Amino acid sequence: MAQDLVFAVQRHRATARHYDFRLELDGALVSWAVPKGPTLDPGVRRLAMRVPDHPMEYLHFEGVIPEGDYGGGDVIVWDTGVWVPVGTDDPAKALRDGELHLDLHGERLHGRFVLVRTGQERDLERWMLLHKHDEHAVEGWEAEDHPRSVLSGRTNDEVKADPDYLWRSDAPADEAQVGLKPATPDPPTEDELAALDALGTSGRWEVLGRTLKVTNLDKVLFPGREGEEPLTKRDLIRYAAQIAPVSLPYLAGRALNLHRYPDGADKKGFWHKEVPDHAPDWLPRWDNPDADPGETRTYLVVDEPAALVWAANFGALEWHPWTSPTAAPDRPSYVMFDIDPGGRTSWEETLVLARLHRSAFEAMDLRAYPKVTGRRGIQVWVPIRRGPDFAQTRRWAEKVSRSIGAVVPELVSWTWEVKGRGGLARLDYTQNAVNKTLVAPYSPRPAPGAPVSTPITWDELDDPDLRPDRWTVRTVLDRLADVGDPFRGVLHLDQKLPRVR
Ligand code: MN
Repeated sequence: MAQDLVFAVQRHRATARHYDFRLELDGALVSWAVPKGPTLDPGVRRLAMRVPDHPMEYLHFEGVIPEGDYGGGDVIVWDTGVWVPVGTDDPAKALRDGELHLDLHGERLHGRFVLVRTGQERDLERWMLLHKHDEHAVEGWEAEDHPRSVLSGRTNDEVKADPDYLWRSDAPADEAQVGLKPATPDPPTEDELAALDALGTSGRWEVLGRTLKVTNLDKVLFPGREGEEPLTKRDLIRYAAQIAPVSLPYLAGRALNLHRYPDGADKKGFWHKEVPDHAPDWLPRWDNPDADPGETRTYLVVDEPAALVWAANFGALEWHPWTSPTAAPDRPSYVMFDIDPGGRTSWEETLVLARLHRSAFEAMDLRAYPKVTGRRGIQVWVPIRRGPDFAQTRRWAEKVSRSIGAVVPELVSWTWEVKGRGGLARLDYTQNAVNKTLVAPYSPRPAPGAPVSTPITWDELDDPDLRPDRWTVRTVLDRLADVGDPFRGVLHLDQKLPRVR
């Protein structure tokens, strides 16, 4: 299957500042060091020294390289996207011959570029990088006028001061990137949980490093299931604190849409997006620069575990993080597949649809992660490299969904927007849109017993005991302790979408 070739440009401060221009070719990153950086100005030629190929794992590296190692210094991802060779179907040969024409589709670099070999300097080849006269050309355009990472929004100085990753050039490529931040924060202590139980109906709770005002703790929020006690707001808040360290990586760096049920799961819920004025100062927030007048501007971002406890106390029973990060709201991190049963769809039929998704992703050699919704359906998240916009991921999801649906046309309806769907299931690719969200992994759902949207392994689709609402606020923590979190792989945003017909 043909795939797009990716490229990245890293702004790298080592012995001297330069921009590393890297093109994917034959499974590696062919690289040039460009001292003044690429430009869109067609009147300027930039020196580009060919440097050793880098492993694909380095593509989106952003962090520090230890002093004394090759390239010791700090690195940001200054641009990334896809590239297309022009006028050749053998770009490796074009490089050997010393001239490659290419189109770049990046966040900053667009249009037709040319790389030309001009000579040799000691053991390095000297090349020129230039931009052609086309509709993307901009006179006077300078890389240095754009100092921030396209991935994190940070500058080299900011990354150097607080790096997330280290690169060890001497390690094998798949082990070279070393995380510097603790992966999982600590859960609340036994003493903290006991203190919540000891509170009256309201009070101040010290938990996860913050003091929160918690209210109406004995209010019933979820009716019980048959033979079980109902669940109170205290139960929800306790669960939010316990699950927060697990949920944090799925929520951090993303706007959170809150689905509030202040009067309980069996009453009407409503969306709440704007952070209210009375929210505490420490609560992490994000101002959406693209918000229209009258639209939500300031969103909650659960960048620390206590923020989720605040949301639960605010009556947010369901947690819906954006599928794009605040650093690039128009670039999704996941493609979402929503297997949404109709009134006539049985659980067995939902499983048939889920197994067809499993086969499709296996055939495409894509990592994809299923979870039961806690209501009746199953969702699948496919993590991707930053690049495509929502229109592209939505088109791709529609193609995959329609080819899956074509196998079992008797189970699926595509006419839901026009005239209902006759009780059939839908494969809802339309959720791939900015500020459209699916429920977060481990979020409760508004139903008796407080069911939880729970990640599963693909093998569990064949477990006869699987149910879409099998796990609840009362049981999912035991499952996590037993089997761990099968969704973790969704956090590795390293896949390209294969072309599909
Ligand atoms: Mn470099």
